[in-house]
This record gives sequence, C-alpha cells and structure tokens, in this order.
Amino acid sequence: MRVLLVEDEPDLGAAIKRTLNQSGYIVDWVLDGVDAWNYLENQWAQYTLGIFDWLLPGLSGIELLRRLRSQNRTLPVLMLTAKDTQADKVTGLDAGADDYLVKPFGMAELLARLRALQRRSPQLQPQQLQLGNLSLDYSSNTVCTNTAGEKQVVHLTAKEFQLLEYFMRHPHQIITRDQILDQLWELGTEPMSNVVAAQIRLLRRKLATYGFEDLIETVYGLGYRFNPAK
Ligand code: CA
Repeated sequence: MRVLLVEDEPDLGAAIKRTLNQSGYIVDWVLDGVDAWNYLENQWAQYTLGIFDWLLPGLSGIELLRRLRSQNRTLPVLMLTAKDTQADKVTGLDAGADDYLVKPFGMAELLARLRALQRRSPQLQPQQLQLGNLSLDYSSNTVCTNTAGEKQVVHLTAKEFQLLEYFMRHPHQIITRDQILDQLWELGTEPMSNVVAAQIRLLRRKLATYGFEDLIETVYGLGYRFNPAK
C-alpha cells in the first residue's frame, strides 16, 4: 500500500509518516503542492491513497485534488485541514475528497479513516490476497499457507510482506531489481545496492522454515520470478 503524503508542517508530516510506516504503508512525503503534482502527473509511483493538507506552499491541497479529478483519476484522497466550518467541508468534498480530517487529530483516528477508505474503494486491495496455497492477510501482516489441509501462519515484517505481496501480484513474471526498488522503496531514499537481494534472502529464509523452498527463483542477469506452489 503506497501513500502520497503532502504536508508542509515538518513535525506533523514526520509523525504521520512514522505512524504509517509502522503500519506497513510505503509513504512518499512531500512538503509542497508543486512537488506533489510532479509526483502525481509523472506517475513515478503507483499510489493507493493520497493524504493532502489543505493549505500548502505552491499549490493548495484542494487545487491538487481538482487537477487530479479533472483527469478522471480516482485515487482515494483524505484531506487534512485546520478548517472545520461547514462551507469548507462542502468545498473539500465537492472538489473530490473522499474523506476529511480536522486538525488536531490522533494517529489512531487517521489509521482508522485510512482503513475505512480502503474498504470503500473497490480499486484498493481486499483484506486478503489468495494465490495457490498462499493467502496474505493485510490486517495482521501474515501469510497463511495451506498444504494438504494443514494450515500454518507465517508472521512477516512490513518489508517482507510488501515484497511477497508484490511477487504474488506478478506471478510467473521476471521482475527486475529496479522494479522492486521503484515499487517498494520510497522516492528520495537511496537504498544500498544490495538491499533487494538482502530482503529477498530474508524472505526466502523465513518461507523455507515453513517448508516453502522454491517460491522465489533467481533468474540470473535479469531478476526474480515467483513460482507459486500448485
Ligand atoms: Ca499546511
């Protein structure tokens, strides 16, 4: 789950990003509306949710939303704002916001609103993703395996979960290291060049302890391929 967060208050932005990261979201955080529009217009990453502050340098959150909707893009967006008069809410919702959170707010409420947005948005991930005998559970960051009627639950770190999810969404395809970096690491971060290989090694090792040895194949010189068990 990848979020574009646009918030110009450094403390609040950092707190939101930290909270979302802890809950397994990948977060690209930008501090002004013009940067945010660059991210959206150039589609550098595929976002599943947007969190836009209303008052921003450059381009307001409302203007961002209007531009997005004028291109018929349905990215679910939660607006953050100190404005809480009825007229402001109407303006926000009319501009295409899917929900609205008035500052100050608690992080637990923010997470609950995001979960509600995900439930309401048909294009977002379901609560579970099933492939072969593997079933990913988004609410608990686990993968459940079912072999010959025997069920096992494997607990994954946030990164292992994101990686396995990405593989499960692209079975039997060769996926390059750069594709994985682009999809699963936040823009502006400069991960070590071996970080993908290291994460894949961890994921393989964890899956292997549960008897899943050959799910992720290395395709030498090209990348990786996920081969779900029949
Ligand atoms: Ca602001």
